[in-house]
Parts: sequence; structure tokens; C-alpha cells
Amino acid sequence: MRSRLIVAIDGPAGAGKSTAARLLAARLGYALLDTGAIYRTMALRARQRGIGWDDGAGVASLADGLDLAFRLDGDVNRVLAHGEDLTTAIRTPEISDGASRVSALPEVRAALLGLQRRIGAAGGVVVEGRDIGTVVFPDAEAKFFLTASADERARRRVAELKAGGRPADLAQTKAEILARDERDSSRAAAPLRRADDAVEIDSSALGPGQVVDKMAEIVLGRTGERSASKTP
Ligand code: C5P
Repeated sequence: MRSRLIVAIDGPAGAGKSTAARLLAARLGYALLDTGAIYRTMALRARQRGIGWDDGAGVASLADGLDLAFRLDGDVNRVLAHGEDLTTAIRTPEISDGASRVSALPEVRAALLGLQRRIGAAGGVVVEGRDIGTVVFPDAEAKFFLTASADERARRRVAELKAGGRPADLAQTKAEILARDERDSSRAAAPLRRADDAVEIDSSALGPGQVVDKMAEIVLGRTGERSASKTP
């Protein structure tokens, strides 16, 4: 087996995937690919160009020649499209909803499949999303399905929005999360589901360090390495 793996982390909104993926990538010295940010970028660019979120061909056409770059900046994984920093603009509740809508369109998923595979193909990458272990990288050497209770996920999302200076209502945030879960799980194209060979981790009562310790142990077990130290 090669020593730099593809690590897939899937799961519902707010389960802690982004934090776990970022910490795990840092621990392993791997690159980080946040595929949700790609769907968010598509939703934002569609909105800016007056393309409807239900216009599959129109939104998919935005993937042609899309110049997307990720840059790790401290704790933040910055997203740049054609040099423009979209990191904050793609995190609003409105764009969360738009990303969930455009991601249900088969044309959009097809247009983004090659892009994601090209970025991750060489290995040495942690890829975070909904269909990474099932569709994008079904042969990934390590797969995780990260979950948490809906209440805990809503609480975390509210704290995250508040930290970004955008206070949000807990009940409304929970309702939005449940609506996204429902849409992500019930869509025909690449629905959210655990890959048969994914390790499921419930993060409801675990801190990020504990989640990453579990993941790193499994990944390093598969690469035969034992050298990465634990989170202090
Ligand atoms: O992970 P994040 O919340 O940023 O993703 C935004 C939306 O993009 C999700 O609600 C989901 O609908 C969609 N998505 C997807 N497949 C992925 C990643 C994200 O459908 N691999």
C-alpha cells in the first residue's frame, strides 16, 4: 500500500468534519480538500450571475475553467476563486442553502467530479464532503463517517456563526440543519450515506482532539507508520 493515502471524511452538516479534517491534515502533513466549499462557491457564483439554483446546465457551466485555490491560513482554510477571497461570503446561511440546492443537481455533481478527483488523485490528502467515500474516491484507503446529534450540531453552528460576528437563533439553525440533512440524504444523485467500509465516529460527546486521535490512529495503522504524536 502507498504511504500517502486518500482519507475520506463524510457526514452531515455540523458534525465537525471541517475541524477534524483540518487537524488531521496538519497531523499527517497532508493536503486538505473541502468539497463543500466547492459547492458553496458554485452557489455564490450562480447568485452573482443571476443563474437560478435550479438551473442544472447553467450552474454546471460555471465549473468550466473554474480557477479554484485553497490556502491554509492559521485555523482558516481560505477559498480563492480567480484570486478573489470568498472565505466569508460562502459561509452565510443563504449560501449554505444554495449549496445544498445546487449540489442536488446531477449536472453539477458530474461537472465537479473530475475536478475533485484531479485535486486528490496523488494521495496525501484529507477530503471532506458527503459522497467522498461512496462516489468521488470509492477506493480511498481510509474512510470516516462523522456524525453528531442534531442538537449538538446546531449548537456548534450557532457558536461558529457567532464567532464570525453573525449571531443566529438556535431553533432556526437546527431547523435549517435538519432541512439540509433531509435534502442531502434523499436526493437521487450521490445521497449522503455511510460507505460500507467507513468507520463511523459519533462526535456528540468528543472534543476535536479526541476525534482526530481516533482518526490518526486508524490512518497510521494503515500506512504502517506509528510516528505521529498525540494531540497534547
Ligand atoms: O460541508 P458544507 O456544509 O460546506 O457543504 C455545503 C453543501 O454542499 C452541503 O449541504 C451539501 O448539500 C453539499 N455537498 C455535497 N457533496 C459534497 C460536499 C458538500 O453535496 N461532497
